[in-house]
Amino acid sequence: MQSEISLSAQDITQAEIDAVVAVLRSERLSLGPRIPEFEAEFARRLGTRHAIACSSGTAGLHMCWRAMGIGPGDEVITTPFSFIASSNSILFDGGKPVFVDIDPQTWQIDPARIEAAITPRTKAVLPVDVFGVPADMDAIWSIARRHNLRVLEDSCEALGATYKGRPAGTLGEAGVFGFYPNKQMTTGEGGMVVTNNDDIAFMVRSLRNQGRDPDGGWLAHPRLGYNYRMTDIQAALGTVQVRRFDEILAQRDRVAGLYRERLADERRLTLQRIPADCRISWFVFVVRLSDSYDRAQRDGILRKLQSQGIGCSVYFPPIHLQPFYQEQLGCRQGDFPITEALSARTMALPFHNHLTEAEIDRVVKALRALL
Ligand SMILES: *Cc1c(COP(=O)(O)O)cnc(C)c1O
Repeated sequence: MQSEISLSAQDITQAEIDAVVAVLRSERLSLGPRIPEFEAEFARRLGTRHAIACSSGTAGLHMCWRAMGIGPGDEVITTPFSFIASSNSILFDGGKPVFVDIDPQTWQIDPARIEAAITPRTKAVLPVDVFGVPADMDAIWSIARRHNLRVLEDSCEALGATYKGRPAGTLGEAGVFGFYPNKQMTTGEGGMVVTNNDDIAFMVRSLRNQGRDPDGGWLAHPRLGYNYRMTDIQAALGTVQVRRFDEILAQRDRVAGLYRERLADERRLTLQRIPADCRISWFVFVVRLSDSYDRAQRDGILRKLQSQGIGCSVYFPPIHLQPFYQEQLGCRQGDFPITEALSARTMALPFHNHLTEAEIDRVVKALRALL
């Protein structure tokens, strides 16, 4: 029996372990000095005025909608080809996600379809930097400016990516990152909101901390807030991960490069198109089967790979076909054919910093045999 090759894995060194242990030995496990330290390190890396750590990427998205005043009845245009949290965050306060289909090559929200989805209730656009490739933000901004829409960037999969030389996450009025262990860097659970907008930053700092004003009293709560705080334990881990981030990105580039080299001549698969003016930050390694395969064949290949100890998964099922989206928003099969056709044929292969050349060879060989 061959050993398991996992779909994803975190990259934790002794430096992270030491940093976490030091917090455990200190007096402050939360609301202590490691939070501002992590935020400053992160803001420095991204070049933003504010970085606000929180309990998850989902919490960060939720707080940004509150800070932007998006509420009941407001429509937000977004992509159905994403992780569920991006559009769920719109629903939390009564906003309505309005989906538009994606570009078949870049797998990102298709800016050419946004304008037709705008109604008098449209208030914002939520582009998602899917699989570590920035969405086409200049095209999105030109539409948003014309129609006076807010722009929030879901960059939870794209820390380290760039668009025309600018960091992903800094391309909207605010950007959100997530640090679940399958992301490029991790804090176990955690998230970060980045922005140059002082009003958004003020509100997010307050909302994450039970609606307190940053300089107000412990029992003064001028607005409805949440407990979306990160702990100092997580922040200490995050600071080391940010300091190691170039090394982490280089490992991910290495693994993706090996896959791409070995799959370059494989006509039965295609990869996401990376626009020339973008730098991808590899999040997952997803391949798309050609149109001659259907969903059942894709699922069969995934099952056989798994039975050989190769971690792999569908990535993503369309959001609009999740049962509660069909019930609440009336979405149906056939609404977004490009997303559905892609989603039926994508497969995420094992992808993490420690994959060896031999493991990648084993994955590619098994996959080719099943094709
Ligand atoms: C991971 C992810 C999130 C949410 O991040 P969590 O930290 O898990 O809450 C949001 N949007 C996208 C696109 C993601 O991939």
